[in-house]
Amino acid sequence: MDYQKYTIATLGSHSALQILHGAKAENFNTLLITTPDREKFYKRFSFIDEVKTIPTFADFPTVEKDLKDKNVIIIPHGSFVAYLGVEKNKNMTLAYFGNKAVLDWEQDRDKQKKWLLESKINMPPQYDSIEKAQFPVIVKSFGAAGGAGYFLAKEKQEFENKIKTFKSNKYIIQKYILGVTLYIHYFYSALTNSLEILSMDRRYETNADGLGRIPAIMQQEIDIDPSYVVVGNSPLVLRESMLPEAYDMGERLVASSKKLISDKGLFGPFCLETIITPDMNFYAIEVSARIVAGTNLFTDTSPYSIFHHEKPVSTGRRIAMEIKQAISENKLELILD
Ligand code: AMP
Ligand code: AMP
Repeated sequence: MDYQKYTIATLGSHSALQILHGAKAENFNTLLITTPDREKFYKRFSFIDEVKTIPTFADFPTVEKDLKDKNVIIIPHGSFVAYLGVEKNKNMTLAYFGNKAVLDWEQDRDKQKKWLLESKINMPPQYDSIEKAQFPVIVKSFGAAGGAGYFLAKEKQEFENKIKTFKSNKYIIQKYILGVTLYIHYFYSALTNSLEILSMDRRYETNADGLGRIPAIMQQEIDIDPSYVVVGNSPLVLRESMLPEAYDMGERLVASSKKLISDKGLFGPFCLETIITPDMNFYAIEVSARIVAGTNLFTDTSPYSIFHHEKPVSTGRRIAMEIKQAISENKLELILD
């Protein structure tokens, strides 16, 4: 089969290098769409066959018709929703790897909650009103704030003070869970109906992680609210006795997506963002229904990927392998939207 008839393409940001490196390893043509300031950077890499520039990421729809005759398959990642928004993703006319129906469930905190509950995955308790809250709480705005502008409150008065200047009037109040954050990177194959854990990461979130490096007494004195803006990732492996539940949570999430979202449900790469408490329970804070950037730690292989594949397989390469299998079995319609 001549896979070079197909071009795997993505936006130049987030996990684009991993996705296109993986696509080239599986012999696809590769194409990157980016902004002029990043063109030079991406042209350094020989596994990217073509770099196309657009003035801003939001201009993506304007290049769609040029790409129509290239047999392009778009691989979405975190920048797609961040810079294009859900509607532009849904309206994309090029072949899109994934199920667009999942976008609404990923975006809406109420829908996420319903999905996680249906999957019997614990979530941090959430409160309709501060009167009922158990402290400390974390207050999060709706929408893809990406951890910016959240605040913590250790008692009601502190909440009342901080909410006055909070930027968003749509927010949720959650119990703050003290534990180890762990982001689990899954891949579910719609072709074989099987689930793999490919890797895991923790995030470095400034300045939440920076605050931990100064003594508690000084933390009190400087009175800084932690910010959860992510700037990098580090690897972590999980206690092996917790791995069965990690796999089961992923399977339950996929099963309930087929019931709640659509027959196709969730497939391809996704991530469950969890916090693990001292009683070894997972609390899920979010589902990302796409490749997450923490997988960039494992552009070759990972301590988990190696158990599923004989060769080095990153999440980016795993996506290309799935597309390749779908092409050779004539089943592309199962994985494209
Ligand atoms: P970017 O294209 O880097 O601006 O990122 C797009 C989206 O992905 C933003 O919402 C970021 O918060 C998220 N993101 C980017 N890099 C990472 C990372 N290394 N770990 C977790 N999330 C990330
Ligand atoms: P999110 O935007 O929901 O991915 O959250 C961003 C970051 O805030 C997470 O990576 C955690 O570090 C922190 N966080 C969010 N929710 C909670 C919670 N309920 N308890 C403790 N930390 C949280």
